[in-house]
Amino acid sequence: MRTRFAPSPTGPLHLGHAYSAMLAHDMAMAAGGAFLLRIEDIDQSRARPEWEALIFEDLRWLGLSWPEPVMRQSERMPAYRTALEDLWARRALFECTCNRRDIEAALAAPQEGAGPAYGPDGPVYPGTCRGKPPSQRPAPQSGAALRLNMEEIARGLLGRSGGADEFSFTETGAGPQCETGAITFTAEHAARAIGDIVLARRGMGTSYHLSVVLDDAAQGITHVIRGQDLFEATKIHVILQRLLGLPTPVYHHHKLIRDETGKRLAKRDDARAISKFRDEGAAPQDIRAMVGL
Ligand code: GLU
Repeated sequence: MRTRFAPSPTGPLHLGHAYSAMLAHDMAMAAGGAFLLRIEDIDQSRARPEWEALIFEDLRWLGLSWPEPVMRQSERMPAYRTALEDLWARRALFECTCNRRDIEAALAAPQEGAGPAYGPDGPVYPGTCRGKPPSQRPAPQSGAALRLNMEEIARGLLGRSGGADEFSFTETGAGPQCETGAITFTAEHAARAIGDIVLARRGMGTSYHLSVVLDDAAQGITHVIRGQDLFEATKIHVILQRLLGLPTPVYHHHKLIRDETGKRLAKRDDARAISKFRDEGAAPQDIRAMVGL
């Protein structure tokens, strides 16, 4: 068993991160496996070396250890580019020049049915740029965002046509609706409920979804242990694994740590930063007790 903790160095780690990291570490140790660390710093406008240093400090203080060197996403751009070129050549991507306002306007227009669906990345993309002729430039150099053509996948890019392609993964934790065990869904469901998600953000050359899938495979991750908020996004990851010929790990989505009002801890919930508890004299055992480990 190989698992990982993959924080973004954009703020202090809080109790929710501590729970996720300690649970993954505990599960790996109990199975005689390995616990890896990966720094998810593709958003260079928000990542800071001082946050990264604090992540190492907090995790060591919690008693966790991991093999060096640590993988950093900012050093993996060539791998992301190669994958995008491959997907582009197979017509699985299209360029998108829409900004948020364009998408909101397209979704606000009167439409049949129940209105826009919401997927893991927000409102399902209305398809505005999907039919446009592609630019001549090879995809990853282009200034536009690149979206996954989910309609094309539903049409049978991966095999069976008419949206009948089936995807599946094993869930050993639970999704937000208590989904567990063998989770299956069709390409048609993905086209409707997820839509054409962005795989390369404009000016970034990748996205969370593309990087996480390529990096979990590159690190040989067999079990992904992470928060329940990423359960729906796992469907995107499973589709990408099939497209890119990568293995699908086992997924274990865990409960989210919430504040006293029931709200899940936000990224910048400094009030519950691990470093703050440490400065106040708490011990790692206290943090374990606080998150129920
Ligand atoms: N960098 C992501 C986060 O902090 C990691 C998500 C994952 O574990 O896949 O939410």
